[in-house]
Amino acid sequence: MSLNSKPPEVVITPSRFRNPIGKYRLHRTDDCIGCGKCVELCPYGVHVIQAGHVLTKNHYRCVGPECPNPCHEACPVGALALNRNPTFDTMGDLRWTPDLLLSTWYMAENGTVPPRGLEYRIGASDGGFDRLRLVFPPAHRSQSEALNEDVDIGIYLNRRDGSSHHIRIDVPFYGGGMSYGSVSIITMLSRVRAAAAFGTFCCTGEGGYPDELKPYDDHVITQVATGLFGVREETIQRVRIAEFKYAQGAKPGLGGHLLGDKVTPAVAGMREAVAGYPLFSPFPFHSVYSVEDHKKHVDWIKTINPKALITVKVSTPTDVDMVAVGIYYAGAHIIHLDGSYGGTGAAPDIAKKNIAMPIEYAVPRVHRFLKEEGIRDKITVMASGGIRTPHDVAKIIALGADGVCTGTAELVALECIRCHNCESGRGCARGIATTDPELTELIDLEWGTQRIINLLMAWRKELIRILKRLGMKSITELVGRTDCLAHLDYMNK
Ligand code: SF4
Ligand code: SF4
Repeated sequence: MSLNSKPPEVVITPSRFRNPIGKYRLHRTDDCIGCGKCVELCPYGVHVIQAGHVLTKNHYRCVGPECPNPCHEACPVGALALNRNPTFDTMGDLRWTPDLLLSTWYMAENGTVPPRGLEYRIGASDGGFDRLRLVFPPAHRSQSEALNEDVDIGIYLNRRDGSSHHIRIDVPFYGGGMSYGSVSIITMLSRVRAAAAFGTFCCTGEGGYPDELKPYDDHVITQVATGLFGVREETIQRVRIAEFKYAQGAKPGLGGHLLGDKVTPAVAGMREAVAGYPLFSPFPFHSVYSVEDHKKHVDWIKTINPKALITVKVSTPTDVDMVAVGIYYAGAHIIHLDGSYGGTGAAPDIAKKNIAMPIEYAVPRVHRFLKEEGIRDKITVMASGGIRTPHDVAKIIALGADGVCTGTAELVALECIRCHNCESGRGCARGIATTDPELTELIDLEWGTQRIINLLMAWRKELIRILKRLGMKSITELVGRTDCLAHLDYMNK
């Protein structure tokens, strides 16, 4: 019997742009005699025949030197030259490398990890996840015999009481908060619809609860944050999970800031503010300075919606372990630890790189402390802040988390190029992090939803493959298994 409900279908969903960016470019000279050998050879459909002419149409699919049948070497008249695409090398940064951007686009198009040619597991930061490796035992180097359906990657979100909703999600992730205002309504809906297709959740962030999300209430987490924008009892009563956000890992101590240009009449209406004026979410919650104060918050939600699960999102200060224990004793079901690498392009780099603790340090610390306190199995630990790949998911779970909250990777699935212009002017020129009605139309809702579904399907498949290689049948077996990890600093010593 299958352990999981049926996952959504992958539908091949190519780029919405006419010339998708690839890692390589093939130059075809006038010497080409149109013999069609390249069309025949290429396993990836880079070359096509159109109206009797041989054309190199899908440069972005070329895997370059890793190609098993290099067309440029086989061409009888030497009419093809393979070069690296210079545009590719200008994209991204050390954490979100061009390889990671393109491999995420590949997953969003095809629902699987790239076959070759792109490094899809790690970035080039030379720190954090990029220096951690999963260690597969030799006995399981070939994939185990278990069928994919026999590997359970689902997790329980309520592990503490019988009176609140019992919620199991079939994948160890749900969407982290992104507000209406920081991203467009289409981006928001694409994320929520993809979450609903997986039976998981997606958080509203703190920009209110747009009516368009109503059909997906069962898969929405409504957020209560310091600005209290759009927070209403009615929206808290609609959902099965409510989140308190105390801080964001990308900018702890700074609160939120939505520039005036992005505060359109619709955004202002949702936030009960004035269009065109900047909006600040202060730091901290001025009603919370102790665990007792926090408990009053939790009790408030439980009074309004007694069956709701409560998740509490915090950044990762040095005493994050104490914070986590306080969160548990105040009555929460989920601790959401948000480390320092996350945030959209709007989060200032100086904050991201210098304030909170990286998530890979915070999670083991919290996991250990909760165990010592005897409460680890009573609370769900979700991690976010720089989870870019299914390998990052496996690594953070091995460090002690139960699951992760997704964010930037979903924006990349919608073809974000990490240009860091999310907050300026009318927002994102690619129509993702914008509130401008014209720019919002750059994304079609069906396209956006399917791209995120495909990405998450690729993550799901890869996580199952990782567990099989580790000889495990359940993702819960991986929690806290630091022995499944190696740090490059300590290898070969
Ligand atoms: S090098 Fe290989 S992948 Fe690239 S276009 Fe030629 S045949 Fe296709
Ligand atoms: S492409 Fe859009 S969402 Fe991505 S970083 Fe640039 S402005 Fe932000």
